[in-house]
Amino acid sequence: MSQRGQHKVIIIGTGPAGLTAAIYTARANLEPIIFEGSQPGGQLMITTDIENYPGFEKGIAGPELMDVMRKQAQRFGAQSFFKTINKVDFTSKPLKVWADDNTEYTADTVIIATGASAKYLGLESEKTYMGAGVSACATCDGFFFKNQKVVVVGGGDTAMEEANYLTHHASEVLLIHRREGFRASKIMLERVQKNPKIKFALNSVIEEIVGKVEGTRKIVTGINLKNVKTGEVVFHPCEGVFIAIGHEPNTKFLKGILDMDEVGYLKTAKSSMKTNIEGVFACGDAQDSTYRQAISAAGTGCMAAIDAERFLEAME
Ligand SMILES: Cc1cc2nc3c(=O)[nH]c(=O)nc-3n(C[C@H](O)[C@H](O)[C@H](O)COP(=O)(O)OP(=O)(O)OC[C@H]3O[C@@H](n4cnc5c(N)ncnc54)[C@H](O)[C@@H]3O)c2cc1C
Repeated sequence: MSQRGQHKVIIIGTGPAGLTAAIYTARANLEPIIFEGSQPGGQLMITTDIENYPGFEKGIAGPELMDVMRKQAQRFGAQSFFKTINKVDFTSKPLKVWADDNTEYTADTVIIATGASAKYLGLESEKTYMGAGVSACATCDGFFFKNQKVVVVGGGDTAMEEANYLTHHASEVLLIHRREGFRASKIMLERVQKNPKIKFALNSVIEEIVGKVEGTRKIVTGINLKNVKTGEVVFHPCEGVFIAIGHEPNTKFLKGILDMDEVGYLKTAKSSMKTNIEGVFACGDAQDSTYRQAISAAGTGCMAAIDAERFLEAME
């Protein structure tokens, strides 16, 4: 039998996927240790109202939801470390990971739940109105823009999907793309072109997001839109700005070690959360380029935990 690690389960990441995996493995008496990384609680920490996570009739604030999940995991004995993992060695058993303070940890199983980061334009005004009119998730925030004007930035399939989805809520969607041609597939582009609610601003970029403070609330009132060919800048009034220029999975430290697609999304087996390395499982946005929701991340976190538990049982 291969050598046993100092821990049974290491979980990397504490978004909905990692914390759900922690709740399950802790309740199975596997005493998981969890690494929080640079964003303890994950992506939901930067958002206010979560209205689509089941169980909260009136919605819940992102940080509050994550706080409850962490407490639930800790109640069953999950131990968290506020460290980032930057190196792993999965070539032999036990599996080894190193934190940013160079401490080595070993385990029989590792669950990767490092999530993904949305790419943003990099504007100062984008940061100012983040979560207050600026979003990178139409499924999450489209509902807040009922009968309002929104813009979507991007030229790929995600931007087309977001633009189409937003027409169910918004009165008008302006699709902004810095070039004339689109990366999106023909079928997605045609769907958008046929949608009467969607207008296009091609060869254009957002120069600034404009807004104001109303009471204690920041709101977006429009954008300064620059035509990159003519240099002309016009003000376009809108209430929502959706950035759809892609996501980056937080998997760089696993490159060459775990199988991933060209963007960096980890590949898992068809009907389980197994990666190409025995004893290593992946869940949440780090392996999901399709759904990218808190509930789907939590669901796959549960699956990864059960897979890890069964793997450990088989090891005994
Ligand atoms: C602004 C915003 C609003 C959203 N609103 C909603 C919503 O209303 N409803 C909804 O369902 N979804 C929403 N989403 C999407 C949702 O947040 C994600 O789908 C979900 O958080 C993914 O969970 P995850 O656990 O896979 O990863 P994440 O939440 O991304 O968490 C990743 C975790 O991994 C850690 N980590 C990363 N790298 C390392 C490392 N090397 N070492 C240690 N730790 C590491 C991070 O610190 C973090 O704790 C929103 C997203 C954003 C950005």
